[in-house]
Amino acid sequence: MRMPLIAGNWKMNGSLALVEQFGQAFAEAALSPSVEVCLIPPFPYLAAVQSALGGTPVSHGAQTLNPEPSGAHTGEVSAAMLAEFGVRYVLVGHSERRSLCREGDADVLARTQAALEGGLTPVLCVGETLEQREAGRTEAVVLGQVEAVFDALAAESRQRLVIAYEPVWAIGTGRTATPEQAQAVHAAIRRRLAAYAPELGEAARLLYGGSMKADNAAELLAQPDIDGGLVGGASLKVDDFLAICQSAG
Ligand code: 13P
Repeated sequence: MRMPLIAGNWKMNGSLALVEQFGQAFAEAALSPSVEVCLIPPFPYLAAVQSALGGTPVSHGAQTLNPEPSGAHTGEVSAAMLAEFGVRYVLVGHSERRSLCREGDADVLARTQAALEGGLTPVLCVGETLEQREAGRTEAVVLGQVEAVFDALAAESRQRLVIAYEPVWAIGTGRTATPEQAQAVHAAIRRRLAAYAPELGEAARLLYGGSMKADNAAELLAQPDIDGGLVGGASLKVDDFLAICQSAG
């Protein structure tokens, strides 16, 4: 059985006050022990999240990392630094990093390898643009992004990744993929992983992201190959995020 994971990616949003609000709410919330929850704030809030959510079952993650271990990389953060703040998950290949920071498949692979070497769990984000979907290229694009990383990894490393399918046209647009559209892509990803190794296909956790909200989470999470969510906007409102976590378990 795959344990569902709900991760809240705050992107460049939030404040210390919001961290406190989440700390209080999650200390009191009745969370099912069969759902894993993770908060992914901007770097400056990692220490505050670690302390405010320390007594709760909520783990925390980071939005990116630099592939180098240290050195003259102004503004960048290494895997070892994130590990010192108790970070468990780190996003790699988020579509905003791919487009705004021009990170290509080789960059995504380097970041994935650095995360693995640093003991972190990479959450590999993949997804097609609207243009690619309309051209009938969804599977080719998404599976290409998966293969660009998985082909280069050893079998033991492949088992350590989480994958998030985030159609670019659904991110921040309020336009969610239908459960059927999301399920079809998740099933295709799982088949591809099973071709590496049947047990990888069986065990890999595949999250959906893209305008997941309190009122559409349950039907997305009910799909057989959707094992959780990577939530953006709705993870900034504590009640909405809690409702999504509760609909997963
Ligand atoms: P939204 O939930 O705001 O669409 O963002 C999704 C996302 O990009 C999470 O990483």
